Amino acid sequence: MPLRKQQKELAPVIIEAAEASCKEAQREELECSESSELEGSFDAGWQKRGSGWSYNSHTGHASLIGVNTGKVVEFDVRTRNCSICQYHIGKNEPNPPHECNVNWTGSSKGMEPDMACSMIQKLLLRMDIRFKHLPNGKALSGDKLKEELDKLAQSYIERADRLLNLGSTQSNESFNNSVASFAQKNRFYGGTKSLKARVSSAVMQKNEGYGWLSKSKKLKDNQRETVKEGDTYGGEIEVQEHIDTETIPT
Ligand SMILES: [Zn+2]
Repeated sequence: MPLRKQQKELAPVIIEAAEASCKEAQREELECSESSELEGSFDAGWQKRGSGWSYNSHTGHASLIGVNTGKVVEFDVRTRNCSICQYHIGKNEPNPPHECNVNWTGSSKGMEPDMACSMIQKLLLRMDIRFKHLPNGKALSGDKLKEELDKLAQSYIERADRLLNLGSTQSNESFNNSVASFAQKNRFYGGTKSLKARVSSAVMQKNEGYGWLSKSKKLKDNQRETVKEGDTYGGEIEVQEHIDTETIPT
Protein backbone atom coordinates (compact mmCIF):
# COMPACT_ATOMS: atom_id res chain seq x y z
CA MET A 1 0.00 0.00 0.00
CA PRO A 2 1.48 3.42 -0.84
CA LEU A 3 2.65 5.36 2.21
CA ARG A 4 0.36 8.25 1.41
CA LYS A 5 -2.67 5.98 1.54
CA GLN A 6 -1.42 4.36 4.74
CA GLN A 7 -1.13 7.76 6.38
CA LYS A 8 -4.60 8.69 5.28
CA GLU A 9 -5.98 5.60 6.96
CA LEU A 10 -3.78 6.06 9.98
CA ALA A 11 -4.75 9.68 10.63
CA PRO A 12 -8.10 8.94 12.33
CA VAL A 13 -6.44 6.33 14.57
CA ILE A 14 -3.80 8.79 15.80
CA ILE A 15 -6.38 11.55 16.24
CA GLU A 16 -8.64 9.23 18.23
CA ALA A 17 -5.71 8.16 20.42
CA ALA A 18 -4.74 11.79 21.10
CA GLU A 19 -8.31 12.75 22.00
CA ALA A 20 -8.54 9.79 24.39
CA SER A 21 -5.19 10.80 25.89
CA CYS A 22 -6.42 14.38 26.46
CA LYS A 23 -9.53 13.07 28.18
CA GLU A 24 -7.38 10.96 30.50
CA ALA A 25 -5.06 13.95 31.10
CA GLN A 26 -8.09 16.05 32.10
CA ARG A 27 -9.02 13.43 34.68
CA GLU A 28 -5.46 13.30 36.04
CA GLU A 29 -5.22 17.07 36.09
CA LEU A 30 -8.42 17.38 38.12
CA GLU A 31 -7.24 14.72 40.56
CA CYS A 32 -4.06 16.72 41.20
CA SER A 33 -5.88 20.01 41.48
CA GLU A 34 -6.30 21.38 45.00
CA SER A 35 -9.10 23.69 43.99
CA SER A 36 -10.86 21.03 41.88
CA GLU A 37 -10.62 23.47 38.99
CA LEU A 38 -8.81 22.67 35.83
CA GLU A 39 -5.98 25.12 35.35
CA GLY A 40 -3.88 25.21 32.25
CA SER A 41 -1.75 27.30 29.95
CA PHE A 42 -2.89 28.07 26.44
CA ASP A 43 -0.86 28.84 23.38
CA ALA A 44 -1.23 28.72 19.63
CA GLY A 45 1.18 28.26 16.77
CA TRP A 46 0.98 28.74 13.03
CA GLN A 47 2.53 26.91 10.19
CA LYS A 48 3.73 28.68 7.12
CA ARG A 49 5.42 27.22 4.15
CA GLY A 50 9.03 28.26 3.91
CA SER A 51 9.36 30.75 6.73
CA GLY A 52 8.32 29.22 10.00
CA TRP A 53 5.56 30.32 12.33
CA SER A 54 3.63 33.22 10.93
CA TYR A 55 0.49 35.24 11.39
CA ASN A 56 0.00 35.04 7.64
CA SER A 57 -0.63 31.32 7.73
CA HIS A 58 -3.31 29.05 6.36
CA THR A 59 -3.05 26.64 9.27
CA GLY A 60 -2.74 26.88 13.01
CA HIS A 61 -2.93 24.70 16.09
CA ALA A 62 -3.46 25.36 19.79
CA SER A 63 -2.80 23.51 23.01
CA LEU A 64 -4.04 23.72 26.58
CA ILE A 65 -1.54 22.19 28.99
CA GLY A 66 -2.43 21.29 32.56
CA VAL A 67 -0.37 23.12 35.22
CA ASN A 68 -0.11 20.06 37.48
CA THR A 69 0.54 17.24 35.05
CA GLY A 70 2.21 19.16 32.23
CA LYS A 71 0.02 17.15 29.87
CA VAL A 72 -2.01 18.39 26.94
CA VAL A 73 -5.64 18.41 28.11
CA GLU A 74 -7.09 19.86 24.90
CA PHE A 75 -5.91 20.74 21.41
CA ASP A 76 -7.35 22.00 18.16
CA VAL A 77 -6.37 22.89 14.61
CA ARG A 78 -7.62 25.42 12.06
CA THR A 79 -7.06 25.34 8.35
CA ARG A 80 -8.23 27.64 5.57
CA ASN A 81 -7.31 25.23 2.81
CA CYS A 82 -8.58 21.95 1.44
CA SER A 83 -6.54 19.94 -1.03
CA ILE A 84 -9.71 18.49 -2.62
CA CYS A 85 -11.27 21.94 -3.15
CA GLN A 86 -7.99 23.28 -4.54
CA TYR A 87 -7.62 20.40 -6.95
CA HIS A 88 -11.03 21.07 -8.51
CA ILE A 89 -10.64 24.85 -8.45
CA GLY A 90 -7.36 24.34 -10.27
CA LYS A 91 -9.17 22.35 -12.94
CA ASN A 92 -11.87 25.00 -13.10
CA GLU A 93 -14.61 22.54 -12.26
CA PRO A 94 -17.25 22.42 -9.51
CA ASN A 95 -16.33 20.72 -6.23
CA PRO A 96 -17.88 17.29 -5.79
CA PRO A 97 -19.44 16.55 -2.40
CA HIS A 98 -16.58 15.69 -0.06
CA GLU A 99 -15.47 15.81 3.55
CA CYS A 100 -14.04 19.32 3.34
CA ASN A 101 -11.00 20.17 5.46
CA VAL A 102 -11.71 23.89 5.70
CA ASN A 103 -12.74 24.83 9.23
CA TRP A 104 -11.65 28.47 9.20
CA THR A 105 -12.31 31.33 6.78
CA GLY A 106 -11.21 34.34 8.85
CA SER A 107 -7.78 35.87 9.46
CA SER A 108 -4.83 33.85 10.71
CA LYS A 109 -4.72 35.90 13.90
CA GLY A 110 -8.40 35.15 14.48
CA MET A 111 -7.67 31.43 14.69
CA GLU A 112 -6.21 31.83 18.16
CA PRO A 113 -9.23 33.16 20.13
CA ASP A 114 -11.51 30.90 18.09
CA MET A 115 -9.53 27.81 19.06
CA ALA A 116 -9.36 29.01 22.69
CA CYS A 117 -13.15 29.34 22.82
CA SER A 118 -13.95 26.06 21.15
CA MET A 119 -11.45 24.23 23.37
CA ILE A 120 -13.04 25.73 26.47
CA GLN A 121 -16.47 24.73 25.19
CA LYS A 122 -15.27 21.19 24.54
CA LEU A 123 -13.81 21.00 28.04
CA LEU A 124 -17.01 22.27 29.60
CA LEU A 125 -19.08 19.77 27.69
CA ARG A 126 -16.80 16.88 28.49
CA MET A 127 -15.83 17.38 32.10
CA ASP A 128 -17.73 16.05 35.10
CA ILE A 129 -17.51 19.49 36.72
CA ARG A 130 -18.88 21.08 33.56
CA PHE A 131 -21.80 22.76 35.28
CA LYS A 132 -19.82 24.09 38.20
CA HIS A 133 -19.38 27.61 36.90
CA LEU A 134 -22.68 28.00 35.17
CA PRO A 135 -25.35 30.09 36.88
CA ASN A 136 -26.56 28.54 40.15
CA GLY A 137 -24.54 25.42 39.36
CA LYS A 138 -27.52 24.14 37.45
CA ALA A 139 -27.25 21.28 35.03
CA LEU A 140 -28.31 22.64 31.69
CA SER A 141 -29.19 20.92 28.49
CA GLY A 142 -30.19 21.63 24.93
CA ASP A 143 -30.68 25.25 23.86
CA LYS A 144 -30.20 26.57 27.38
CA LEU A 145 -26.81 24.91 27.65
CA LYS A 146 -25.78 26.22 24.26
CA GLU A 147 -26.87 29.71 25.25
CA GLU A 148 -24.80 29.59 28.46
CA LEU A 149 -21.79 28.24 26.61
CA ASP A 150 -22.06 31.00 24.03
CA LYS A 151 -22.21 33.59 26.81
CA LEU A 152 -19.21 32.05 28.51
CA ALA A 153 -17.30 31.86 25.24
CA GLN A 154 -18.13 35.50 24.58
CA SER A 155 -16.66 36.52 27.93
CA TYR A 156 -13.45 34.71 26.96
CA ILE A 157 -13.41 36.39 23.56
CA GLU A 158 -13.63 39.78 25.27
CA ARG A 159 -10.69 38.93 27.49
CA ALA A 160 -8.84 36.94 24.85
CA ASP A 161 -5.79 39.16 24.56
CA ARG A 162 -5.14 39.15 28.28
CA LEU A 163 -5.81 35.44 28.60
CA LEU A 164 -3.62 34.56 25.65
CA ASN A 165 -0.70 36.63 26.92
CA LEU A 166 -0.94 35.07 30.35
CA GLY A 167 -1.15 31.63 28.90
CA SER A 168 1.98 31.39 26.87
CA THR A 169 4.49 29.29 28.75
CA GLN A 170 7.57 27.23 28.25
CA SER A 171 5.44 24.11 28.31
CA ASN A 172 3.40 25.24 25.31
CA GLU A 173 6.51 26.41 23.51
CA SER A 174 8.07 23.00 23.89
CA PHE A 175 4.84 21.50 22.56
CA ASN A 176 4.97 23.85 19.56
CA ASN A 177 8.50 22.69 18.85
CA SER A 178 7.31 19.12 18.98
CA VAL A 179 4.47 19.91 16.55
CA ALA A 180 7.03 21.52 14.26
CA SER A 181 9.05 18.32 14.26
CA PHE A 182 5.99 16.29 13.27
CA ALA A 183 4.60 18.92 10.91
CA GLN A 184 7.71 20.34 9.39
CA LYS A 185 7.10 23.99 8.84
CA ASN A 186 8.43 24.11 5.32
CA ARG A 187 5.67 21.75 4.28
CA PHE A 188 2.00 22.40 3.88
CA TYR A 189 -0.33 20.00 5.67
CA GLY A 190 -3.49 21.95 6.14
CA GLY A 191 -5.25 20.62 3.07
CA THR A 192 -5.75 17.16 4.47
CA LYS A 193 -6.32 15.48 7.80
CA SER A 194 -2.59 15.04 8.17
CA LEU A 195 -2.07 18.33 10.04
CA LYS A 196 -4.44 17.18 12.78
CA ALA A 197 -2.78 13.76 12.76
CA ARG A 198 0.63 15.37 13.20
CA VAL A 199 -0.53 17.65 16.01
CA SER A 200 -2.11 14.52 17.53
CA SER A 201 1.25 12.75 17.28
CA ALA A 202 2.85 15.60 19.24
CA VAL A 203 0.06 15.33 21.85
CA MET A 204 0.74 11.62 22.21
CA GLN A 205 4.47 12.19 22.54
CA LYS A 206 3.94 14.81 25.27
CA ASN A 207 1.25 12.93 27.20
CA GLU A 208 2.32 9.32 26.78
CA GLY A 209 6.04 9.61 26.11
CA TYR A 210 7.52 6.71 24.22
CA GLY A 211 4.77 4.43 25.50
CA TRP A 212 2.20 5.95 23.20
CA LEU A 213 2.90 3.44 20.48
CA SER A 214 1.38 0.61 22.51
CA LYS A 215 -1.77 2.63 23.19
CA SER A 216 -2.10 3.37 19.49
CA LYS A 217 -1.64 -0.32 18.76
CA LYS A 218 -4.54 -1.16 21.04
CA LEU A 219 -6.74 1.28 19.16
CA LYS A 220 -5.48 -0.05 15.88
CA ASP A 221 -6.26 -3.63 16.96
CA ASN A 222 -9.79 -2.59 17.81
CA GLN A 223 -10.15 -0.93 14.45
CA ARG A 224 -8.60 -3.81 12.59
CA GLU A 225 -11.58 -6.00 13.33
CA THR A 226 -13.79 -3.66 11.36
CA VAL A 227 -11.30 -2.13 8.95
CA LYS A 228 -9.97 -5.51 7.75
CA GLU A 229 -6.88 -4.07 6.17
CA GLY A 230 -5.05 -7.35 6.68
CA ASP A 231 -1.30 -7.67 7.09
CA THR A 232 -0.43 -4.36 5.47
CA TYR A 233 -1.85 -2.46 8.43
CA GLY A 234 0.78 -3.79 10.85
CA GLY A 235 3.71 -1.45 10.32
CA GLU A 236 1.84 1.77 9.85
CA ILE A 237 1.86 3.05 13.41
CA GLU A 238 5.62 2.75 13.43
CA VAL A 239 5.82 4.85 10.28
CA GLN A 240 3.83 7.57 11.98
CA GLU A 241 5.88 7.50 15.18
CA HIS A 242 9.07 8.16 13.27
CA ILE A 243 7.39 10.39 10.76
CA ASP A 244 9.79 11.67 8.18
CA THR A 245 8.03 13.52 5.44
CA GLU A 246 11.19 13.80 3.41
CA THR A 247 11.00 10.11 2.62
CA ILE A 248 7.44 10.10 1.35
CA PRO A 249 7.60 9.10 -2.31
CA THR A 250 5.82 11.27 -4.80
ZN1 LIG B 1 -12.87 20.96 0.50
